[in-house]
Amino acid sequence: MTKNILEECLMRRFPLVVAPLALLTMTAAGAGKPDYKPFAEVSEGYTKVVSTADGAKPFYGLYIDKKKNQLLAELPQGWKTQRHLFAVTQASGGTFAGLQGPMIYAYWRQYDKRLALIAPELDTRSKGEAESKSSVKRLFTDTVLVDVPILTMGPSGQPVIDFDGLLVNKGGALMRGRGGTSNANLATIVKAKAFPQNVEVAIEAPARGGKLTTYHFSISKLPDNTGYKPRAADERVGYFTTVYRDLGQYDQKKKWVRYIDRWHLEKRDPKLKLSPPKEPIVFHIEHTVPVRYRRYIRNGVLYWNEAFREIGIDEAIQVRFQDKATGAHMEKDPEDVRYNFIRWLNNDISTAIGPHRAHPLTGQILDADVVLTDGWIRAYWGWFNEQAPELAVEGFSAETLRWLDENPGWDPRVLLSSPGEATRRAEIMAEIDAAAMTSDTALPLNPDLAEIAGWMDDPSHQCLAAHGLAFDMAFGRMNLESLGLLEAGGYDAAEGDLLDGIPEWFVGPLLAELVAHEVGHTIGLRHNFKASGIYTMEQINSAEWKGKKPLAGSVMDYLPPNFNLETGEEQGDFTMIGVGPYDKWAIAYGYTFDDPAKVLERVAEPELAYLTDDDTTGPDPFARRYDFSANPLTYAKNQMRIVDQHRERILEKFVKDGESWSNARRGYQTTLSMQMRMLSMMSNWIGGAHVN
Ligand SMILES: [Zn+2]
Repeated sequence: MTKNILEECLMRRFPLVVAPLALLTMTAAGAGKPDYKPFAEVSEGYTKVVSTADGAKPFYGLYIDKKKNQLLAELPQGWKTQRHLFAVTQASGGTFAGLQGPMIYAYWRQYDKRLALIAPELDTRSKGEAESKSSVKRLFTDTVLVDVPILTMGPSGQPVIDFDGLLVNKGGALMRGRGGTSNANLATIVKAKAFPQNVEVAIEAPARGGKLTTYHFSISKLPDNTGYKPRAADERVGYFTTVYRDLGQYDQKKKWVRYIDRWHLEKRDPKLKLSPPKEPIVFHIEHTVPVRYRRYIRNGVLYWNEAFREIGIDEAIQVRFQDKATGAHMEKDPEDVRYNFIRWLNNDISTAIGPHRAHPLTGQILDADVVLTDGWIRAYWGWFNEQAPELAVEGFSAETLRWLDENPGWDPRVLLSSPGEATRRAEIMAEIDAAAMTSDTALPLNPDLAEIAGWMDDPSHQCLAAHGLAFDMAFGRMNLESLGLLEAGGYDAAEGDLLDGIPEWFVGPLLAELVAHEVGHTIGLRHNFKASGIYTMEQINSAEWKGKKPLAGSVMDYLPPNFNLETGEEQGDFTMIGVGPYDKWAIAYGYTFDDPAKVLERVAEPELAYLTDDDTTGPDPFARRYDFSANPLTYAKNQMRIVDQHRERILEKFVKDGESWSNARRGYQTTLSMQMRMLSMMSNWIGGAHVN
């Protein structure tokens, strides 16, 4: 149990809160009201936090004592009927610092001289007859998260609380048990900002184990009704959902209410067929993104505007560049719920993730921050030995994995790990042993990815697109070198720059596609693992397609780059050059101003095929991650031809004069991993069944 340091410290600070003094400090409100010390006395040594140029009245009034690292907060007027959103982000001191953390939606309730923060019961509700409402209210009650003493009444007549005490000592309650400090005495207030709609407070303290860690709390008012209308989910279109059980409904089918998560997008002028948005979705590209990659990130974000234009909104999504050198947008904190950011972490891990925060009552998306990491770029220069094993079992059924448990000598994850890396091999064995079944076989084998999984509330929000990209980057370099694409095929090495040694025309569009995928998550979309299978290799690698049509139905699949060896008339695009037909249709369903049922009428069109994470262990061999084209067997043969070609040239291409022969082994393992991946994918075709 955490010791209640807050109360200890209050006792130390105000040792004389006893009856005689209390009599002297009766508030002006007179008898019947609780007695508090005057605000002036409580706030002695504190200064008011003013964060707006016009000094507009802030949401919570904040008062800071920088020397003692203390922060007081006066609750906003009207707090008794308001609900507040507490959004937490770990801002420093961790590999994934910057990734959105938990969100708490709660209200304050006064108990004499104490305040309790209470989370309303949302999972079970009743929208039916009065009797059911009474019953649900009695059975499914709200939950107290934390309580704090009222120190005094503030200048606006509202309760004042020890804010740093709440966030440091009881912060765990706001982070669903995560976080926590080993020494609250060393807590330092790094940021305190007070705006009319929200307050932003960041506190650094040693975590358990001592590592200095900053948690950023973004606290804002969240009205029950923002003027937004929820939209019902349909399982044939892949959206994240906000779900509750309505026990006012006696029809079993209607009991579960599912809303899609989406932004509140409206036309500025509803009379126009194509109108600017009333409020655009704005993404800020964080200043930590290397300058050389910024335009590709912007391109990936803006791919989606094509889909929104089709439902009548022009430039629904907009991009701003934060820049340290010029100071542009530097006053905006990525952790602030008002701003959406594309963040860049140098942590040597191959990940990208696009989480969002949605209104728990309606599914209205309020804030989204995409996190990109740098590891996949380095993968181009060799990544295989450590990471490839987990991809070798991608798409294996639960039965196969159980059989491998009993016959570890056949496990490709073990076979593919380098015998030189005995420790890594032992680790893989242990991890396989300990792992519970997860939706993605890469997860239990990779501690970095598992860490993210622990931070995410909902496993359906997992995204390993960049992890797959790292694999493709490692193979990509071999392909570019060995297939002679660096010189031939209309791709001129002199065209554009080399970005970190990689041709810009190759890496730029891949990054844009990755960003489009993650932004797709932030506007509500789930994965669509069937989208890679709607066009043939021959179509994709033709003059009709190249540069003109997307090579898959959706950017929401994990798409390997398209490398053509004798399967089409020319080398087509390496990746998507915009959003696909499924993406446009899904956006139309979620955001149309007409009847969404009309959009659904098109569901049987082959280009709109959709299956998601839950289906990747099902019978449909098309619903696989990392497969490609309408005939994956043709694709597999194409890849095997590439593998053969590499094998023939391993000694001459992979080992340059003066280099170690160990490069030849790396080359061999890369081809072996690709071979395994193709075999794994093809085996699903034996006895598979298509799901429509
Ligand atoms: Zn994803």
